[in-house]
Amino acid sequence: MPILYKSTRSDAPAVTASKAILKGLSPDGGLYVPTEMPKLSKPLEELAAMDYRELAYEIMSKFLCDFTEEELLSCIAAAYDSKFDTEKIAPLVKKDGAYYLELFHGSTIAFKDMALSILPHLMVTSARKNGVTNEIVILTATSGDTGKAAMAGFANVPGTRIIVFYPKGGVSNIQYLQMATQRGDNTHVVAINGNFDDAQTAVKKMFNDREMAAELASKGFQFSSANSINIGRLVPQIVYYVYAYCQMLAEGEIKAGDKINITVPTGNFGNILAAYYAKQMGLPVEKLICASNENKVLFDFFATGEYDRKRDFILTSSPSMDILISSNLERLIYKVAGEDSKANLAFMKSLTEKGEYEITPEMKANLADFYGGFATEQENYAGIRELYEKTGYVIDTHTGIGNAVYRRYAAKTGDRTPAVIASTASPYKFAVSVVGAIAPEMVEGRTDFELLDVLSEIAKMEEPAAITDIRTAPIRHRTVADPEAMPDAVRKILGVI
Ligand SMILES: *Cc1c(COP(=O)(O)O)cnc(C)c1O
Repeated sequence: MPILYKSTRSDAPAVTASKAILKGLSPDGGLYVPTEMPKLSKPLEELAAMDYRELAYEIMSKFLCDFTEEELLSCIAAAYDSKFDTEKIAPLVKKDGAYYLELFHGSTIAFKDMALSILPHLMVTSARKNGVTNEIVILTATSGDTGKAAMAGFANVPGTRIIVFYPKGGVSNIQYLQMATQRGDNTHVVAINGNFDDAQTAVKKMFNDREMAAELASKGFQFSSANSINIGRLVPQIVYYVYAYCQMLAEGEIKAGDKINITVPTGNFGNILAAYYAKQMGLPVEKLICASNENKVLFDFFATGEYDRKRDFILTSSPSMDILISSNLERLIYKVAGEDSKANLAFMKSLTEKGEYEITPEMKANLADFYGGFATEQENYAGIRELYEKTGYVIDTHTGIGNAVYRRYAAKTGDRTPAVIASTASPYKFAVSVVGAIAPEMVEGRTDFELLDVLSEIAKMEEPAAITDIRTAPIRHRTVADPEAMPDAVRKILGVI
């Protein structure tokens, strides 16, 4: 039976993978989930002989059932190419007894590249398959990282445009330069006189504005979203967990069938959900360790069964994990509720209306695959420093949370299961904090770019091209707008006024 996608919030008919990718969100507000979890159908030894692209096809073809072999192979070839600075795409590095799965070798040196480099191709293929002839216009509000990764993915992909809105003055200097220097005639960046929420609210309003949709459709455009709840982002993320296992197997670190643990520094719960899906497909995984920073909603949830977002938002040195509503958790809630969309809807309504919900003891019992942990800023920094002092290996502050949580888990439980830690960003992306952890005395009085040089010395690493590039690349984007003027900024970019 081919796999279709159904909503977590109603019993509306399931749709094909390509329709789910085009829509992003189900019309009832739910997230799309597969009607059935496909299983790994080849022996692990055989998977271990595949390169990243072959394995990507093996896994993704089980989920994207209405894509032809040719279509999917061409999406994979366009995504996982020389944009990545290593043939392995997602190399696994063993340090101090743990395996760091480096997901930051793509164009913006963070893990979102893994999915955002293929999503544009999946989307264009989906549009073609469904007879959509309009040009796809991606709108994204960003607090810094996602917008850049989305632009890098969509840049120069025929049939698409991307418009990114960010809060003027609300991103780091490096993040600003990364966006403002973005190449590609179909990429557009608008700085907003407001904060991230203003940008986000205005983007959501445009997505829901039927008049604007009709106006743009008449000119040959339609909006779409590169949001992390799109199954076109989730499915490609399953691949690298299987790949990690296969690398351990190929290098003789484990035998086929041995269990591993996977630790994921978590924000929106997308990356760890992909690991859970890999386990459901039959990958031998024991524990999924969900690592949070001081915004520890998920830690509390796994401990008590109560999800409570009513708390202060804490700004940390792992900003991509500073999240109080982990959207992708809804897919897990639906699953552990026995795929009961009514029950899930009630929880999600309670979250919107009351800021909290509590799952039943039966549901909580279904969460046994997960272990929740969190690390403070101090523990994160101490862990980064200790790993560096022991091995010379430098990790970023998001990976640092995974590292600190895993090390404490192992010490507390004595669990010696081989452990993979998802390494979600290059230390160069968060150089100020990383140098602050390893050599705090070096930070004072140095500019961002000087600290990048310090990092290269400390880590004995070559600066990634993504960083070198922004030192000299010309500024290409200078548009500024008030939040109310965002629709007109879009019209102007598309040349319809
Ligand atoms: C987005 C992000 C995360 C969190 O991933 P989720 O899928 O949202 O849980 C962690 N680390 C980095 C560097 C990220 O960019």
